[in-house]
Amino acid sequence: MSASDAMTPILFSVPFRAPAAPGNLAAVIASDHVHGDGPFTKSASAKLVELTGSPSVLLTTSGTAALEMAVRLLGIGEGDEVIVPSFTFSSGAASIVAAGGVPVFVDIEGDSGNVDPAQVEAAITPKTKAISVMHYGGVPADMDAIMAISRKHNIPVIEDNAHGLAVKSRFGALGTIGSVAIQSFHDTKNVHCGEGGAVLINDATLTEPAEIMREKGTNRSKFLRGQVDKYTWVDWGSSYLPSELNAAVLDAQLDAFEGIQERRFQIWNTYAAELSQWAMDLGGSVMNPAEGEHAAHVFFVLMPNQEVRDALLEHLRAHGVIGTFHYVPLHSSPAGQKYGRTVGSMEKTDSFAGRLARLPLWPGMTVEQVAYVIETVKAFRP
Ligand SMILES: *Cc1c(COP(=O)(O)O)cnc(C)c1O
Repeated sequence: MSASDAMTPILFSVPFRAPAAPGNLAAVIASDHVHGDGPFTKSASAKLVELTGSPSVLLTTSGTAALEMAVRLLGIGEGDEVIVPSFTFSSGAASIVAAGGVPVFVDIEGDSGNVDPAQVEAAITPKTKAISVMHYGGVPADMDAIMAISRKHNIPVIEDNAHGLAVKSRFGALGTIGSVAIQSFHDTKNVHCGEGGAVLINDATLTEPAEIMREKGTNRSKFLRGQVDKYTWVDWGSSYLPSELNAAVLDAQLDAFEGIQERRFQIWNTYAAELSQWAMDLGGSVMNPAEGEHAAHVFFVLMPNQEVRDALLEHLRAHGVIGTFHYVPLHSSPAGQKYGRTVGSMEKTDSFAGRLARLPLWPGMTVEQVAYVIETVKAFRP
């Protein structure tokens, strides 16, 4: 394949089309049960319980909505602090601010992009009410160290597992370790329904409060199960449940999960095998998780500095390959500075964010497209 064949650029991400989705959607529309909590919601939730190993999974309208629920379920309110890595998606901090809390940004460790437990412990104050951890690329953060800190200080943990659906790690299954965890089904994620998410409840005392919060603060779920004879407003809540249309698409995607992951891992493994030496020759590296402990959600390379990284992305774009950086560190974002507090050095976060480039990775990529990306990357000279 030559650059001219790539006149239509190789996009960074293309949403997967699940074969069963159109049929599922037609069935929802014909059924007249289009609002939430119908058969597809039940089916998709049961599949997620199976895939994640979490005892209780509630679908939400987005990963962001799930984060808002997680923060509220842990009782975070006015002035409460939640420790969160600066290197994460904005919703990781915005969800804390939405509840009146203060995100306290800490640094990451090494070259994984995951939070540094020592920095977490150093940021604890009497106001700390939760620790929020994100598994970057589905590579587990050091959950043994995080949970030891959690137990020592009696502070609950939220796992933002938007990248790591169904990853099994030496620390346990991702999304089952903290009190609450979240998944995202945005169409850039491995499994999607356009916009959607789920909250995973691992602390049984939060199961009923979560049900109520998701149903506008009412006990409607109990009513539907016949456990109360009328339903009413009982606590703080909002409308966090997705319609059956979203659940129908998600259910079809979950049916295809194994095939999606197989193809993503093929591409990921090809990149890793073909590009490790190239990256080393430039004084950089490629993503290097422990065997199998990731979700093939992202494949990133780390360049020696930001100038070289920017030049690489420019080179790729000029040759019809759309690579991209990732998060602008939240401690330096306008809202992060307005609402948050930063503890300790952010050196590793700034360095990692500045050197990182992600390559196209989606199940529909052809063998030729993957080969062309590799060839184009290897042709880069700083
Ligand atoms: C995508 C993502 C979210 C938010 O998910 P939405 O469904 O888009 O609201 C949160 N955290 C991380 C790490 C993400 O990648």
